[in-house]
Amino acid sequence: MTRLAVLGHPVSHSKSPAMQNAALAALGFAGWEYEAIDVAPEGFNELVRGLPGKGFAGVNVTVPHKEAALAVADEASDAARAIGAANTLSFEAGKIRAENTDAPGLIDALGRSPGELSGKSALVLGAGGAGRAVVWALASAGMKVMLWNRTRSRAEDLAVELGIEVVPPEQHGGIDPGPFEVIVNASAAGLGGRDGLAELPVDAGGFHSGQTVVDMVYGENQGTLLEAADWAGARPIDGLEILVRQGARSLEIWTGKAPDLDVMRAAVSS
Ligand code: NAP
Repeated sequence: MTRLAVLGHPVSHSKSPAMQNAALAALGFAGWEYEAIDVAPEGFNELVRGLPGKGFAGVNVTVPHKEAALAVADEASDAARAIGAANTLSFEAGKIRAENTDAPGLIDALGRSPGELSGKSALVLGAGGAGRAVVWALASAGMKVMLWNRTRSRAEDLAVELGIEVVPPEQHGGIDPGPFEVIVNASAAGLGGRDGLAELPVDAGGFHSGQTVVDMVYGENQGTLLEAADWAGARPIDGLEILVRQGARSLEIWTGKAPDLDVMRAAVSS
């Protein structure tokens, strides 16, 4: 038996076990199993170091452990180091390797090559852990990124660190999304079925066809941000698609095989 898991706190709500087990079954990896493990921050390092001895090939890491996952690793990808967080750990030859598949997963979901994104403008809402990965991914693809965050100083700090712009203060009452090709809500606005659009300073009248709007937050229904984008003819991408794409990247790291995305989409939607 080869074991995989997602580590979080809490983690019982995670769709990753259903998604990854469905993908493993479709790949024909009969002896592999993916589970959820709830671990508090104070027990994280000890748990991770003991996993290779218990048959684990790797783990996904979610809130609140992504920074600790990078710190506990012996080696890390450039992306994980630049983002300052890892969502994927692999155990091989006695070493712990950290990677961040949130960033390439987002680019995969956009469905455009870095060459097609280069030079285009992106608006990112949110400068927390997800915001960091999104900003890094889009900026690394050559996009001109503008960042807004509810707490302005946090956006300013991240902008300086990653060499991007912040939304000017005079637009904090209402940002026109019209000039941006890609708009990503990487904040928790809209979480728990709340009205995301009402919590964000985005003027939905500026959405138009040709744009892609991503909402990292997912719930029972499509949130108001994506509803407005969809209505205006923009291409909506929901948080479940982002979950699938980062999970697919992680599974490929561990198994060496590209999983069936439709199998994973069906598992997270049921
Ligand atoms: P985090 O590090 O705790 O950061 C939370 C961010 O949301 C901060 O920028 C915070 O702003 C902002 N925020 C919180 N409540 C808000 C509100 N009512 N209005 C506007 N902004 C608000 O969390 P995270 O890891 O970045 O995750 C952010 C969201 O992305 C979560 O809801 C999570 O569900 C989602 N996510 C989805 C995926 C996926 O695979 N689909 C992956 C990662 C994260 P302040 O700085 O002002 O507090």
